[in-house]
Amino acid sequence: MPNDPHPISSHASTRRNFLKQSGCIAALGATGGIGPGLVRAQEPPSVSNAGQAKNIIFMVSDGMSNGTLSMTDQFVRLRDRRPSHWINLYSRPGVVRGLMDMASASNLVTDSAAAASSWGCGQRVDNGRVNVNHGGEWLDPILVIAHRNGLRTGLVTTATVTHATPAGFAANGRSRQAEQDFAVQYLERNIDVILGGGQLLFSGEHREDGRDLTGDFREKGYATPTTREDLLAALPKNGNDQENATEKLLGLFSPSHLPYEIDRLNDPESQAGVPSLAEMTDVALRALSKDDRGFLVQIEGARVDHAAHANDLSGLIYDQIAFDEAIAVALDFVETHPDTLLIVTTDHGNANPGLNQGSHEGARTLGRLREFKGSLSSLSLRLGNLDAPTLDEIQDLVSATTGRPLAMEEAQILLDRLHGGPTAPYRRMAGLSAVLGQVLANTLEVGWVGNVHTSDYVELTALGPGSEHIKPFTRNTELFSLMMRVLELDPGTGNDL
Ligand SMILES: [Zn+2]
Repeated sequence: MPNDPHPISSHASTRRNFLKQSGCIAALGATGGIGPGLVRAQEPPSVSNAGQAKNIIFMVSDGMSNGTLSMTDQFVRLRDRRPSHWINLYSRPGVVRGLMDMASASNLVTDSAAAASSWGCGQRVDNGRVNVNHGGEWLDPILVIAHRNGLRTGLVTTATVTHATPAGFAANGRSRQAEQDFAVQYLERNIDVILGGGQLLFSGEHREDGRDLTGDFREKGYATPTTREDLLAALPKNGNDQENATEKLLGLFSPSHLPYEIDRLNDPESQAGVPSLAEMTDVALRALSKDDRGFLVQIEGARVDHAAHANDLSGLIYDQIAFDEAIAVALDFVETHPDTLLIVTTDHGNANPGLNQGSHEGARTLGRLREFKGSLSSLSLRLGNLDAPTLDEIQDLVSATTGRPLAMEEAQILLDRLHGGPTAPYRRMAGLSAVLGQVLANTLEVGWVGNVHTSDYVELTALGPGSEHIKPFTRNTELFSLMMRVLELDPGTGNDL
């Protein structure tokens, strides 16, 4: 969905209530089930004889077009004189790479809810739904199945922890907007480690039911850090109290989504208070591996998608770098835990940015991102909030963020847009952030095909036991089958939905 709105709304969990009232037992997953509302899930895995893994780390850079992956690698090579961790994986022996078809049940162009559900329950569902199929049936999410099989489970994201992608592994809802319900489901379904944004969704003062959900998690034995410092203290790396360190975590570090990485890095308060995705990944992996049970965790770089919706190049590249640093943490873990399957992918393209041939060599233009002091999304907000904007004010604000002067005629285009016109030939591109993206393309030479998701087949990279059975071209639902097989999960029957 454009700009991924995240209203705090509540939807009745009718399916859950039905199950409770009727005493029905959900018997879903790979072997199907019986009774009203229960369905037979995806046919048995198309992968066969997959190796077995103790753990799976499933990493998603949300809304990452191929151009985002390429430009991030090119920028990192320029800046740090090394390849990105993701691209570097391609030269590593044993790494598997392919393309994946992410279409949903309702559209060639998926949204994040349907995309995560395809991995989470093994069926394609309609856009906007979370593990609920066209007939309204609830399908077991894979973290519920994993918990039922004795594994530990985790969700890490830079969005609200109940946003569509993490929810696709752990929740059920007819609408992805039911984030307040998903928060309750996480509690009932015993997700062990939950790290990201979304304090308001767990707060009695802001929830429609008035429930202090954070308190309920605490009563269930969870540590509930709200700052970077609290998080790192909850599970110290080399602390003497390592034995007693917590294993269950609900860490929420922002009222809603976490800030864009480039804004976090440029704001000392935010940098001190909000952990990076790599730090959250490190804590999650250590917490989940504290005992011998094995785990399944999803780790999401969520705001790559938001930046793409906003045609925000600095937001996009720095958040993709933050995701890349989380990949490095996962690779460190894999080194010492070779019985781990690592999957790195995205759920769909978004806005398909690309570095175009221009009047300067591409390296010079892309290198200008080094001078940026913030996201273009934040800049758009500041521009939009000007009371009576002038050309001078616009030039000052833009150059304060980009580190470069803005030509008068370009400031005039932005001023015209702030005054309500003119419209763009492609109407999607008429918004302020899209116009700003196009104006800056004159110097950055990065263009955008739109500001919404695209149907492109996506990158799929994997390493570790089971990865050898990933084919060069994969249907999204096959990853569910693969994970079930590799972790030897019995879909079983449970009354935990
Ligand atoms: Zn999106």
